[in-house]
Amino acid sequence: MTGEETKSNIVHISVRPLVEYVFSSGSIDSGFRTPAAMHEGTRIHQQVQRAYREGDHKEVYLKTEIPFDGIIYQIEGRCDGLIVTDEGLTVDEIKSTSAGLDMLEDGRAVHWAQAEVYAYIVAKDQGLERVGVQLTYVDAKTGEERRFKRTRTFAELTDFVTGVVRRYAPYAALRLENVRLRDESIRALPFPFPAYREGQRKLAGSVYGAIMEKKKLLAKAPTGIGKTMSTLFPSVKAIGEGLLGQIFYLTARTITRTAAEQALGLMQEKGLRLQSVTITAKEKVCFQEETVCTKEACPYADGYYDRINGAVLDILANETIMTREVLERYARKHRVCPFEFSLDAAYAADAVICDYNYVFDPRVSFKRLMEEQKRRTALLVDEAHNLVDRGREMFSADIGKAGFLQLKRDYKQRNRAVAQAADAVNKYFIEFRKACGDERTHVSEEAPEELVRLLEAFAGEAERELAAGPGEQQLLLETYFAAQNFIRTSKLYDERYVTYAEILRSDVTIRMFCLDPSYLLAQAEKGYRSTVFFSATLTPLSYYRDMLGADADDYAVSIPTPFKKEQLDVQIHPLSTRYRDRERTREALADLLYRLVTGKRGNYMLFFPSYQYLQSVYEVFAMKYPDVGTIVQGPGMAEEERERFLSAFRADNRDTLAGFAVLGGIFSEGIDLQGDRLIGVAVVGVGLPQLGLERNLIRDHFNREGKSGYDYAYVLPGMNKVLQAGGRLIRSERDTGVLMLIDDRFTQPHYRALLPEDWKS
Ligand code: SF4
Repeated sequence: MTGEETKSNIVHISVRPLVEYVFSSGSIDSGFRTPAAMHEGTRIHQQVQRAYREGDHKEVYLKTEIPFDGIIYQIEGRCDGLIVTDEGLTVDEIKSTSAGLDMLEDGRAVHWAQAEVYAYIVAKDQGLERVGVQLTYVDAKTGEERRFKRTRTFAELTDFVTGVVRRYAPYAALRLENVRLRDESIRALPFPFPAYREGQRKLAGSVYGAIMEKKKLLAKAPTGIGKTMSTLFPSVKAIGEGLLGQIFYLTARTITRTAAEQALGLMQEKGLRLQSVTITAKEKVCFQEETVCTKEACPYADGYYDRINGAVLDILANETIMTREVLERYARKHRVCPFEFSLDAAYAADAVICDYNYVFDPRVSFKRLMEEQKRRTALLVDEAHNLVDRGREMFSADIGKAGFLQLKRDYKQRNRAVAQAADAVNKYFIEFRKACGDERTHVSEEAPEELVRLLEAFAGEAERELAAGPGEQQLLLETYFAAQNFIRTSKLYDERYVTYAEILRSDVTIRMFCLDPSYLLAQAEKGYRSTVFFSATLTPLSYYRDMLGADADDYAVSIPTPFKKEQLDVQIHPLSTRYRDRERTREALADLLYRLVTGKRGNYMLFFPSYQYLQSVYEVFAMKYPDVGTIVQGPGMAEEERERFLSAFRADNRDTLAGFAVLGGIFSEGIDLQGDRLIGVAVVGVGLPQLGLERNLIRDHFNREGKSGYDYAYVLPGMNKVLQAGGRLIRSERDTGVLMLIDDRFTQPHYRALLPEDWKS
């Protein structure tokens, strides 16, 4: 929560998080946090600092130590300015605001606190009796400035800073004690299983080595070796050795978060005392029917910051593995938003289990993670093959015309500046559409700079309107966020991007599409001590090394399967499943599948490249073979439907069951049907994504780069899905089964080379 670093009885903390902790108060306010103003912070600082005179100093690094109650607080920070004024030597703290200067009566308490801590350090270092303290607020839009000044004696400042430390002390003392208990428990912690399974020691050793040497590691590790434990255990040990302060266990799906919690639970049974926080998406944990995060609409937002310190102290004093349920319980008890609470608790946790986006997505990543804290954090990226497309999505942004037309109408009377700015964006889209003539899609390598400029103007006006009073302004808020996201993405735009527009009647959507996420992923990984990417399907490793932002000298390890060859019977059937042949081969395909599922009584999963294809083969199959029990995946299944689908795969089913599912869907990855719950899998086709604009743009981009564009856009993502689906079959030493691969391309050397060794008979 505060970005502090703790060691024995020393607490190292920066001024800003310290005062933010102590002076936190008020409510969550619609998630509207004026990011534009924050973004402009540097420009505004420079504007004020340029007016400093000779003898004034800017960006002054300050540091002090304050002993309190047996703990030494090492406090440091950088004050914006140290200037000479009528009040003598004065600390200047610069803040930008988009709410308008008139809204400020006397500066915010937390800003004064920050400046006064700096003033205390200056007075102490220079032996001054009194120091000037100044807050300089700058209107982000007009550049207008307003100053508030006061003078403080050294005695006053000493009292003040002691008070700040006193209020912070309970939290710091608790963290110190928890860290002591944690490190002690780690030193005594044995590997939680009686013995290492085959491959497990190698993986665990590689993870530890990568953390020790501050490298990234790509680990191709098959199902069944206990990847979660093999990555978590060495990372926990690295905490005990002082190499790490924190672990981030990053997942693509909720289900794998549970596996990480269970692994920590197992270590806890062996004596580990480590605190973890699991973060669940806001929409899922929200206590309200509608997620409207304002103090008026939500009691958990109202006064959140007044109660959050108490809530965090309570949970840290009493809990270790903070799952969703545990967090919800404390959130209700302290009446705080469960989502924001989980984020605040995460800053203080030793391990954080969450989705990729909290580290990689510029929209939601942990902004308060200090560089120092990052240097002591390892990222463990589970099922890392997913990060390529997830990265593309996180770094891309689009914006459509419709919202602006509506806003122009809605705000005509209420706020002319907002209406005009929305109108300007709307007109841009109209002109754009005209220029495209009959084209339905339009592609350009250039960033849409003119649009970004208009969106910036719109965002500025929207921000003022929203800051003045939220009220019922949902469309403005949503459009504002979309505009901000677009503007933010435009700053990342380079030769790895392309812009395309889709025109549908009068509507136009413009998208900045990230073709190659590797550079931005590497940027996001920067600063962390180590990143471990692991998955059963990082094939070929060279492609994932290229796409996940690893360097040539980063490590890679490939663990062989722990299972015996006899456990898996692989059959390849060279029947064409290409689009043009599907009609012709569907009856033969249905026959083939019938042969598979009637070979032995039991449960089978049959994977198809699309719902349409699935449906067309299913119709034939069901008509020809009504005696076989079937269950069919449908698009957009709700949670209960999914559970019903999976629970049909019972080990004690008396009749054969054939599950029709789609490749790359919810049942082809991450599900674990052990033993007789699944005895056969068929994969129809080589999984190529559907031909489409985005895939073709990716292909062309990598071709230009001298790489195999078709492989990067189609073959490798496709084969990854095949490997994942096939990987559902053998989950333990006791499993056996038949894997049927149906497509003539499986016999071609190019595709064959991508199959695991144990699939090549
Ligand atoms: S409980 Fe829901 S509505 Fe309330 S602040 Fe949290 S996310 Fe927003």
